[in-house]
Amino acid sequence: MKVPLIDLISQYRYIKDEIKVAIDEVIESQQFCLGEKVEQFEDEIAEYCNVKYSVGVASGSDALLLSLMALSIGYGDEVITTPFTFIATAYAISLTGATPIFVDIDAKTYNINPNLIEEKITDRTRAIIPVHLYGQCADMDPILKIGNKYNLCIIEDAAQAIGAEYKGRKAGSMGDLGCISFYPSKNLGGYGDSGVVMTKSEMLANRIKALRIHGEGGKNYYPLLGINGRMDAIQAAVLSVKLKYLDNWNDTRRKNAAFYNATFADLNIMTPYVDLWNEHVYYQYVIRTENRDNLMGFLNSKGIEVRVYYPIPLHLQGCYSNSGNFPITEKMAKETVALPVHPELTKEQRDYVVVTMQNYFKEAI
Ligand SMILES: *Cc1c(COP(=O)(O)O)cnc(C)c1O
Repeated sequence: MKVPLIDLISQYRYIKDEIKVAIDEVIESQQFCLGEKVEQFEDEIAEYCNVKYSVGVASGSDALLLSLMALSIGYGDEVITTPFTFIATAYAISLTGATPIFVDIDAKTYNINPNLIEEKITDRTRAIIPVHLYGQCADMDPILKIGNKYNLCIIEDAAQAIGAEYKGRKAGSMGDLGCISFYPSKNLGGYGDSGVVMTKSEMLANRIKALRIHGEGGKNYYPLLGINGRMDAIQAAVLSVKLKYLDNWNDTRRKNAAFYNATFADLNIMTPYVDLWNEHVYYQYVIRTENRDNLMGFLNSKGIEVRVYYPIPLHLQGCYSNSGNFPITEKMAKETVALPVHPELTKEQRDYVVVTMQNYFKEAI
């Protein structure tokens, strides 16, 4: 049996008719960049996440970059974030001219450890970017408190966490700015690249709206230095259709995760730890085990696709070498692996993952 890590073809079969109508409307309108479909989707996603303003942009990476640009963060500034994330979180900071300052993670949730943030704050620190890794929110209350105390902006990297909740608040709605990615493999994925920035500040929303269209402030007038970071209307049309299914899909991910948690209880692994106040959306279902590479080899040989997010932490990447020592991050990069948890998994596939895991640990004893 084959169990892929993601199965967008099965998902497409299920929503094909609606998607085709939605894309066709965009083609008939010949309005491909921003426009009505994008505005409609911006309203829908703002309502879903319970935020006042949402601005559609070209990708999750641009959402981060535009957020930093909107705050006028640049050369000489420092921005605190985690080294256990996708590279875009950090290079968005570097592209503005600012320096990412890494803080080690919590060993249970893999998210930035709030207790280690204050010691990294200097008079150059301008912002903190917590990442809601794998679909579970970082511990936001202490982070927001530090933000208040030192007058730092909080930008949530909620690229992996649409629909996740922290103490009843939606991922992306808690900081000064929240960034979401609609890359095809994300829990809400488009048919190409796009993203959104969310904020309660009208001033920041307006700045990002100008920055995403080359910094334009009226025809042929450019008061700001911007980029081409617009959202594509075809993506907005697809995402409007898919948003209606998101809660169901996230529920199914949670059910798959609960099934794994129960059946893996006897195995020598750590299943995902979820803080009591968190509603996890399982972008990835990540387990921890000492002989991780052996387990991966076994599962892959049995047709189960598994992957490591992320095998090389950012402070060990060539572009960020010599940026500190992060022992917890390094340990987790060696011991964690993601198993298929997507909502299109069949019962047979789920059972097969469980039996294969049980067989591996029987043989390992
Ligand atoms: C996917 C992702 C991004 C980048 O989003 P894109 O839409 O691919 O540009 C940024 N941060 C994290 C944590 C991500 O997972």
